[in-house]
Amino acid sequence: MESIPAIYMSERVAQLLPLYQQFVKEHLRPLEQSAIYGSFKAHLPVLGDLRKKAKSLGLFAPHLTVEEGGLGLSLLEFASISEVLGQSPLGHYVFNCQAPDIGNMELMHRFASEDLKAQYLHPLQKGEIRSCFAMTEPEHAGSNPIHLSTRAVLDGGEYVINGHKWFTSSADGAYFTIVMAVTDPDHSNPYQRASMILVPLDNPGYRLIRNIPIMGDVGEDYLSHGEIEFKDCRVPKSNLIGEAGSGFALAQERLGPGRIHHCMRWIGICERVLELTCKRAMTRELNPNHVLADQQSIQHGIAESAAEIKASRLMVLQTAYLIEKYGAKAAKEDISTIKFYVSNVLMRVIDKAIQVHGALGITDDTLLSFWYRHERGAKIYDGPDEVHKTVLAKRIIQSYSAR
Ligand SMILES: Cc1cc2nc3c(=O)[nH]c(=O)nc-3n(C[C@H](O)[C@H](O)[C@H](O)COP(=O)(O)OP(=O)(O)OC[C@H]3O[C@@H](n4cnc5c(N)ncnc54)[C@H](O)[C@@H]3O)c2cc1C
Repeated sequence: MESIPAIYMSERVAQLLPLYQQFVKEHLRPLEQSAIYGSFKAHLPVLGDLRKKAKSLGLFAPHLTVEEGGLGLSLLEFASISEVLGQSPLGHYVFNCQAPDIGNMELMHRFASEDLKAQYLHPLQKGEIRSCFAMTEPEHAGSNPIHLSTRAVLDGGEYVINGHKWFTSSADGAYFTIVMAVTDPDHSNPYQRASMILVPLDNPGYRLIRNIPIMGDVGEDYLSHGEIEFKDCRVPKSNLIGEAGSGFALAQERLGPGRIHHCMRWIGICERVLELTCKRAMTRELNPNHVLADQQSIQHGIAESAAEIKASRLMVLQTAYLIEKYGAKAAKEDISTIKFYVSNVLMRVIDKAIQVHGALGITDDTLLSFWYRHERGAKIYDGPDEVHKTVLAKRIIQSYSAR
């Protein structure tokens, strides 16, 4: 991809990118319309075959180490691959680097016991099972997640979990979840009250209440958001991930690289949406002598989107570089900046594309409506934009007081 500056692109990624681009074009694009607007479940066999194909080509799970069956890429290298995969709504899924599984893989790789890794992480890495992550509760503001009602109480060698969660993405069809539950409600530090515990979803104390409709789309399987319940749900104490009380510290670890993944996927979506915009503008005749693309206002819109995509890419790659060099904590403000900046670019690029498509833009005959409906959440999840703006603004204001 020529638009990625050489300083952010290793020779290896330069060789890999065309292979991923070819795969997306040849195998994923033809399936998109039916898999996204039809039954995702019905497409699982064909998507499974594509996963096998990706494995046979040595392209599967690019984010994992070589020993784990991946390509051993750095965060910066994976970012560029992620942009290409983001150009199809099936990309990350087929290559097994989709959220929330990728975050759970990273978390378990670092903090799960060897037994949990053998039983859950390894099949997850191979793409044999899926997982989900249950933190947000409908009764409490997710943007301040220390307020949780879900409790996990030790009873002998077991945790007994009770609680109600929602927006547990991809719970439908998942094999296990990692649940955030309060284990020490009286701890003086509210950030040390909760823990992450793995729950296999065939547990009789777990229930998927419903897939939550998103602007009319209930979704299914991987493409869904679950409302779930834990009722006297018993799991062995050894299902704890990391230390008791470390839930929020682990959540932070999970989110740093996760924001790079999301942002690069969003940039991939923007690229594809810009392609749709240009193709439509070039073929939609206003009269026999003029197409939409001849109009200056359309041209300006295309130029604005292209400039914003380019700026986003540079910001995100620079942030990935900073995380690798100095760690996620040192890059905190940069991570917050890309989160709110790129989510807004995404909204603007999709909205302009819909406008250029006219009535067609709001139908389900193109991918635009899918992205418009499902990516609106980008400004809300992984910390609402306002929270990230505050993080950045505080650092800027602080820098002036120190002068
Ligand atoms: C598509 C999608 C997928 C998700 N997937 C998961 C998942 O897999 N697992 C999971 O546990 N959760 C998931 N979530 C939930 C997500 O983490 C929460 O929605 C998010 O943390 C915000 O919490 P809330 O919805 O309760 O909004 P609230 O906390 O009620 O906030 C509402 C609004 O208030 C404003 N606001 C909040 N805080 C501030 C502030 N400090 N200053 C100014 N304004 C503020 C923002 O505009 C915000 O949108 C998902 C959400 C979406 C939309």
